[in-house]
Amino acid sequence: GSGPGVMCPSYRATGEERHSTRGRARLLHEMAIGEVITGGWRSEEVREALDLCLSCKGCRSDCPVGVDMAAYKAEFLDRHYAGLRGLLRRPRSHWTMGRLPHWLDLFGRGLNAGLRLPFAARLAGVTPERTMPRVAEASFTSWFAERASDRPPALTLWPDTFTDHLSPEVGRAAVRVLEDAGLGVALPEGRVCCGLTYVSTGQLGAARRVMRRTLDVMVPSG
Ligand code: SF4
Repeated sequence: GSGPGVMCPSYRATGEERHSTRGRARLLHEMAIGEVITGGWRSEEVREALDLCLSCKGCRSDCPVGVDMAAYKAEFLDRHYAGLRGLLRRPRSHWTMGRLPHWLDLFGRGLNAGLRLPFAARLAGVTPERTMPRVAEASFTSWFAERASDRPPALTLWPDTFTDHLSPEVGRAAVRVLEDAGLGVALPEGRVCCGLTYVSTGQLGAARRVMRRTLDVMVPSG
């Protein structure tokens, strides 16, 4: 990025050209030409350069022609890890964090037993400096389902996975604010997921399935 905008945070952290939007764009360009970088989608240099990209989309709003490195990264990772060979080489974090919405829906607070293990971060492929999150005792959607409200719904509130299972108090507060403003709240009539973690880890087939299911819930006849 340039100008007064976001400026790529990974470049700000390392100061290395290959961790800037421009450096990454250059590497992708070289990969497409195939002279200097010869591995194509399997290229380790490109994977390494994209690894620290936060997929924050700062470059997309900074760039006059809308370079969207987050989208390129998703596409690259999807192809880099394609096929059986790719499947076996995927980092553990793609299976754990990349599919977290699925694990949270499947196990809910049962995940806490695993998250409390001393080596949980290592097992999940996460840096040990990070503390692992705690899954809430009651999800936002289960709290919502059990409460009575006589207000006719004026809007549908999107219960994203992280609010639902990790920070349900945020969802509860949103309902309180909206109802205090006189707006009745409904939730979608089925499980919805925006697919973000699947996209950012380049699991685009799974992302498509998740988004399709979400659209079927939001627009049943669509
Ligand atoms: S999406 Fe990636 S390349 Fe673009 S500004 Fe964010 S960290 Fe940098």
